[in-house]
Parts: sequence; structure tokens; C-alpha cells
Amino acid sequence: MAKIAFIGLGHMGGGMAPNLAKAGHEVRAFDLVPEAVVRAKEGGCSTAASAADAVNNADVVITMLPAAQHVRGVYENDVAPNAKAGALLIDCSTIDVDSAREVGEKLKAQGFEFVDAPVSGGIAAAASGNLTLMVGGTDAEFEKAKPFLEPMAKAVIHAGQLGAGQAAKICNNMILGATMVATCEAFVLAQKLGLDPKVFFDISSKASGQSWSMTSYAPVPGVGPDTPADHDYEGGFAAALMLKDLKLAADAAGSVGAYTPMGAEAEELYQRFVDRGGGGKDFSGIIKMLDDSWKV
Ligand code: NAD
Repeated sequence: MAKIAFIGLGHMGGGMAPNLAKAGHEVRAFDLVPEAVVRAKEGGCSTAASAADAVNNADVVITMLPAAQHVRGVYENDVAPNAKAGALLIDCSTIDVDSAREVGEKLKAQGFEFVDAPVSGGIAAAASGNLTLMVGGTDAEFEKAKPFLEPMAKAVIHAGQLGAGQAAKICNNMILGATMVATCEAFVLAQKLGLDPKVFFDISSKASGQSWSMTSYAPVPGVGPDTPADHDYEGGFAAALMLKDLKLAADAAGSVGAYTPMGAEAEELYQRFVDRGGGGKDFSGIIKMLDDSWKV
């Protein structure tokens, strides 16, 4: 069993790290938020006093951080100076392809192994070990990383070379942002047309309107599986992070000349939701902006 440092114990990392501990690994967990470290300890991890302390002597380092600036900072200041030579470094955060490549290439030049391995699935999948992970790296790096990712996953897929995991992830989340907006506006319209939301869910989740946003993450309370909508849109995947991902998709589309009008529309709507103070709410909370009269 390996010594694994896990840095970033938020909505996602807080569920992921204990699954590695349950698989028998020695997991040293760290987050800037002390309560998150306490929860990881309750989940069977041991705790570290700092990121540098966590990575000291670790065979594998896994990071689950908000955005590219956090990833750059943690790898430059904490991981590279303190991790042991040859350690396997795995970044599960969602960041832009260029940052993933730059960070990874720099670390590889310093003698580490590095893969980008962003995840898909919400907090429930993180907690239950049912994420889908998309991995960017060489064949050998993928094979080496895979056993450490499997305890957190229902699927671990080799997307291609360094950065390919992030490319897959931002394309996936562009679909997610657009389908969530479409699902929300359909619920608003259904209600105005006199349909009971639960009845509409029962129909659409079994009909051609179904998607993950409908079936697994319905944006209204009291229908389908338990989702952030059942908790006043607290927890889950912050709208600010969805906006970040849609901006990453727009930048990526611009860089290769791809036409992505639905992604652009979703970005504009999430920007408005965040500007109105919704950034900390789950991204499905955008239903409240689409119709202020929406009763939840
Ligand atoms: P989060 O904000 O809940 O968690 C991030 C954690 O990183 C926080 O606890 C924060 O304190 C910690 N952190 C930040 N800087 C740090 C540092 N220097 N050292 C140690 N800890 C530090 O975010 P999240 O929802 O867990 O998402 C994490 C990543 O996963 C993001 O890139 C997000 O886009 C992606 N993601 C999220 C979801 C979701 O449903 N929430 C799903 C798939 C992917």
C-alpha cells in the first residue's frame, strides 16, 4: 500500500480522500480549512500540518483544488520543493489545458511523473467512489496512476497525452452547463403550463429529454435522487466553478476556432447568475434566476 498525500479537501476532495484510505492506503490529508482536515481524519485519513508536510516522503501526491492559480501555487511552492524524487503527481482539479501542460512539463523536467486526471460526477459520486476520471499522460504514466484512481472511480479512462484529460473535461462540462440551463428552463415552463414537477421529472427522466442534469441532478427539490436542490442549492458544484469551466471551454474554442454557441450562451447566463450573487450556490440554483417566481 502506498503513502498518498491528498491536498484539497473541499466538496470533492473531502469525499475522494477517505476512499483511498478505505482501500488501505496511508493518506496524509491537507486543506487550508481546518474543519476539512478534521472531516478527512474522521474518514480514516491521517492529517498533515501543511501541504509540504503532507507530501514529505509520499509515493503519490493527489491534488483537488479550485482553479489553475491554486494548482500552480501548490505544485511550485509546496510539492516540487518537498516531494521525494520520482514521486507520482496527479492533479484532479479542473483547469485549462495549457496550464496543465506547463505545470506537468515543468514537474517532469524536475524528475517527477505527472498526469492530469480531472473528474466527472458530483459530490455524491465523490463520496461513494463513483467518479469518472479522464487521464492525460503517457501510457506508462496512465498504467502507474490507474490503481490509485480506481478506489475513487467507476471509470478511469486514458484520454491521451498530457493535458488531454483537461480537454475532455472542459468539453464535458460545456455539455453539462448547457444541459443544466435547458433542464432548468424546461422545469420553469412545465410549471407555468400546470405540470407537477415530479410528474414532469418522472416523464422526462425516462424520455428523450433525459440527461445527467435531469436524471441524476434534477434542479428542483423533491424529485429524483437527493440533489443540492433538496438543500436549498447548498453544497454540490458551485456556480462560480461552472462559470470557470465554461470560460475555459470558450478560451479553448477560441484557440482552435471551434464554433460553440450553446456553450457561449450558458457562459453568459452563469456570468449573470454569479454577478447577482449566486456564485457560491450549486450551479443548478440558476433555476431561480431563470424565473424569480419559481417556488422552491
Ligand atoms: P471546493 O472549493 O469545495 O474545494 C477546494 C478546496 O481546496 C477547498 O477546501 C480549499 O480550501 C482548498 N485549497 C485551496 N487552496 C489550497 C491550498 N493552497 N492548499 C490546500 N488546500 C487548498 O471545490 P470542489 O467543488 O471540491 O472542486 C474542486 C475541483 O474539482 C475544481 O477544479 C472543480 O471545478 C472540480 N470539480 C468539481 C465538481 C463538483 O461537483 N463540486 C465536480 C467535478 C469537478
